[in-house]
Amino acid sequence: MVLASERLRISGRVVVLLVDYHVHAMGHGEREHTMADLEPFVIQAIKKGVREIGFTDHDWVCKDPDFKLFKKLQKKYPKVTIRVGLEVDHIIGREKEIASFLRNQPFDYVVGGVHHLGESRWMFDLPEHVERYNGKNIDDVYREYFETVKHAASSGLYQIMAHLDLMKVFGFRPKKRVLSLMGDLLEIIKERSLVVEINTNGLFKPVGEIYPALDILKRCFELEIPVTLSSDAHRWEDVGRELEAARSLAKKVGFRQIATFEQGKMILKKI
Ligand SMILES: [Zn+2]
Ligand SMILES: [Zn+2]
Repeated sequence: MVLASERLRISGRVVVLLVDYHVHAMGHGEREHTMADLEPFVIQAIKKGVREIGFTDHDWVCKDPDFKLFKKLQKKYPKVTIRVGLEVDHIIGREKEIASFLRNQPFDYVVGGVHHLGESRWMFDLPEHVERYNGKNIDDVYREYFETVKHAASSGLYQIMAHLDLMKVFGFRPKKRVLSLMGDLLEIIKERSLVVEINTNGLFKPVGEIYPALDILKRCFELEIPVTLSSDAHRWEDVGRELEAARSLAKKVGFRQIATFEQGKMILKKI
């Protein structure tokens, strides 16, 4: 197998830019932010031809990363640009709490993701709770999910919207077109100048598809909503996983640039 980084050297043209903007170094709390735990992620990124890796641990695992440690890591690995962000679990009613822990921390960007629905905070993407789909009107569940994502997009707390159609994770499909169930979500994302990630993790879930689906990406392109690339890795082995597929998909749709962030400022880069 030819690695992307090798291909870059062979071709001699700087056209390869793979970023992995959604990486969970701490997983679900199995590891810590230490040099020993972080280094394998960075080494894997370099191996996979990833030029920029963005660490975005779940806010419920770690809200206040040690930025000095990431600086040290960057010094040791100048070959790859290291960004520090967070993936925040958007739950309606949590906005003040979220704003307070985001404040005064020098994140490069913050990813907003919806993993809970309704008052019962149903974690609809966990296999342990899959039986709760039984007897539900799937169109209604999608509608509720997208309403919550809209709330997240409108909150002003995030720069990147995570796995936009995560509701498909177990393969439950609505009768209506997903785009119509989204209502004006993409228009809100556009209005708020947010970025949509092309997340390859869905390829390894029961649905077996990248998030979001092709028709949603096409609509993003029409609306000129920037995209970025992510693996949503929860282990170092998965850093950069299938990002070539994500990039091909982006290019097929028409995107020629992807969004990156430095200290909250968006920088578009060629793919
Ligand atoms: Zn997520
Ligand atoms: Zn994630």
